[in-house]
Amino acid sequence: MNSIEKLTALFERFPGIGPRQARRFVQFLLTTSPATRSELAESIKSLGNLTGQCKKCYRWFVKSTVNKLGLCDICVSNHRDAGIVFIVEKDADIDNVERSGFKGLYFVLGGTIPLAAEEPEKHIRARELSVRIDTDGTAKMLKEVILGLSATTEGDHTRSLLNERLQAPAEAFGFKISSLGRGLSTGSELEYADPDTISEALDNRH
Ligand SMILES: [Zn+2]
Repeated sequence: MNSIEKLTALFERFPGIGPRQARRFVQFLLTTSPATRSELAESIKSLGNLTGQCKKCYRWFVKSTVNKLGLCDICVSNHRDAGIVFIVEKDADIDNVERSGFKGLYFVLGGTIPLAAEEPEKHIRARELSVRIDTDGTAKMLKEVILGLSATTEGDHTRSLLNERLQAPAEAFGFKISSLGRGLSTGSELEYADPDTISEALDNRH
């Protein structure tokens, strides 16, 4: 495999990128300046050293904003309502929900559960979610858990499984489980919804 083929194959591993797009990325890199190539290579190389995953919500963030506990800027903020936990599928959803003005906290599930999954728990951070709910619940600070999953088949499936799973802790700790209301149309993903739509879906949560 020559260096062009190798880089093309690496780009093909990216989510949503096919061979043709991968080839276009390589073509762009071939025609760009050596300085740009170096900058990109350096950024990728240092990514692991500069970022960390929050121990509470599991989002990735730049380490300069981390405190000693390994928590992100949102989780340590005093200006957030720690009683509301918004469960999302992925990091990109948080960026978008933040633009809607939401002031609670988050938990990143890390995916959705496929319909025919034999071991549903393996597809999401099920154990980590239990720990989070138990910790917050025991601290008597949990008022509401919002299931902010996409309005897709897998999203719906994941929502109903989580809903079942959270019934017992919701009763034990006395918190409410809610889902986003109308506003998010069928098939839409949080990542691509505009902030006004998210804000409306949040206002209409039930
Ligand atoms: Zn966090």
